[in-house]
Amino acid sequence: MVVIALRNIEIGEEFTFFYPSTEWSMDQGFDCICQSENCLGYIQGAAHLPLNVLTKYKLSQYIEKMYRVENNASIIQTAVVRWNQI
Ligand SMILES: [Zn+2]
Repeated sequence: MVVIALRNIEIGEEFTFFYPSTEWSMDQGFDCICQSENCLGYIQGAAHLPLNVLTKYKLSQYIEKMYRVENNASIIQTAVVRWNQI
């Protein structure tokens, strides 16, 4: 697995990880404590989030594939193309 930072990380800076970028549906969710203004609260995996939330993040190929399979949709391609251009 490769973890990609969406911006430069300063030495000693605390950073967070978007679990739904790699987890489709977790056996056991958890309450997030990241304190971000965009915190999703209870984390259960990508399957439990609407597309308009998922497309704000860089997703693993596994999650992109699962979304297509589960939703039989190509709309997420827009987000994938956008992220690949960054
Ligand atoms: Zn959070």
